[in-house]
Amino acid sequence: MDYSTKISSQIQGLPRSGIRDFFELVIGRTDVISLGVGEPDKPTPWSIREAAIRSLERGQTSYTSNLGLESLRHAITGYVEQQFGMGYDAKKEVLVTVGVSEALDLAFRALLNPGDEVIFHEPCYVSYSPSIRMAYGVPVVVNTREENEFALMAEDLEKVITPRSRVLVLNFPTNPTGGIMPRDELERVAALAVKHDLIVITDEIYSELLYDDRVHHSIVTLPGMRERTILLHGFSKAFAMTGWRLGYACAPAPLIEAMMKVHQYCMLCAPIMSQMAGLEALKLGRSAFEDMRQSYEQRRNLIVRRLNEMGLHCFNPGGAFYVFPEIRSTGLSSKEFAIQLLEAKSVAVVPGTAFGQAGEGFVRCCYATAPDLIAKAMDLMEAFVNEVRNRNLEPVAVAPATSAR
Ligand code: PMP
Repeated sequence: MDYSTKISSQIQGLPRSGIRDFFELVIGRTDVISLGVGEPDKPTPWSIREAAIRSLERGQTSYTSNLGLESLRHAITGYVEQQFGMGYDAKKEVLVTVGVSEALDLAFRALLNPGDEVIFHEPCYVSYSPSIRMAYGVPVVVNTREENEFALMAEDLEKVITPRSRVLVLNFPTNPTGGIMPRDELERVAALAVKHDLIVITDEIYSELLYDDRVHHSIVTLPGMRERTILLHGFSKAFAMTGWRLGYACAPAPLIEAMMKVHQYCMLCAPIMSQMAGLEALKLGRSAFEDMRQSYEQRRNLIVRRLNEMGLHCFNPGGAFYVFPEIRSTGLSSKEFAIQLLEAKSVAVVPGTAFGQAGEGFVRCCYATAPDLIAKAMDLMEAFVNEVRNRNLEPVAVAPATSAR
């Protein structure tokens, strides 16, 4: 059968995730040190796992309310108030989802009419553009630059706003750069969102993982923003709960109601055992991840120092668990660098282009890996870089400042 005639052209037109494609090269190899997939290297804290086990033992295996367990929604509003300084009504303004992934999909499907433009900053998480396209929206990219430590410049944002712009997606700290937003720039971006009547989806999944005593500022707290912001957060990163598939959206009731409609037909509810685990995670709060955060900060210091010492320029990112060193000086493209490093030294990093064209000239390294493995990976990378430099290749061209697609 010719399946290409059976599969929607919309889906056929979507690229596969560059990260997953790259990691198929690594699967089955036990000799590889992976600085690749972005997930904590430790399992979920024991008491959280235990809460889920207990709930199963009690026979809690049913559906929950479409919105999620009311007790969990209450815990979420308490946590969000503490973490972001914003209050929500647990009955009408919170929706529990299957990860931030589902929440993003629900938000786009609930908000977009065909042809509506959604602006997001690149390099960025791989799913934004495909999720927008699956909701028949038009992805519009605004590039961020290393010279600004990958913060979104309001000036660059303004250039891509058109009368069709409906939504702006923000993600700070950012996957894949670790970049954060200076408060004054965030204020300028918020002012543009108000001026152009944009809805802002803020993906706050790394907001707990901040370093050097930084305090997180979410755009939702800025003047005029609460009514136009969908705040997305989840348990995957800070609580090391990627496999539980649990997240949530907080927003004004009409937006949550619209997202809930999609959710109730496509997902019904998040799994009850994951919701019970999430409840326990929020009871623990910061104590569940503060040690981990401190340990990430030390690993970040180690990896940033080693990369700069080997001549791969790397700014010191304020958050998440990624560094985004520039590899142009080697004369290799991002993909060549990642593939040759894997072949020559069995170290896996992700080509920057997996996160959009603005990632050319960079690779992403996830440092949620044991410090001794990071040190070993850095020794191997340094040897690789020296070998490549001896080949005397031409440096790779710089990406343009802004582009749309
Ligand atoms: N947003 C960003 C920026 C991410 O990096 C990820 C996961 N890597 C997600 C969303 C998806 O998270 P979840 O596990 O909650 O679906």
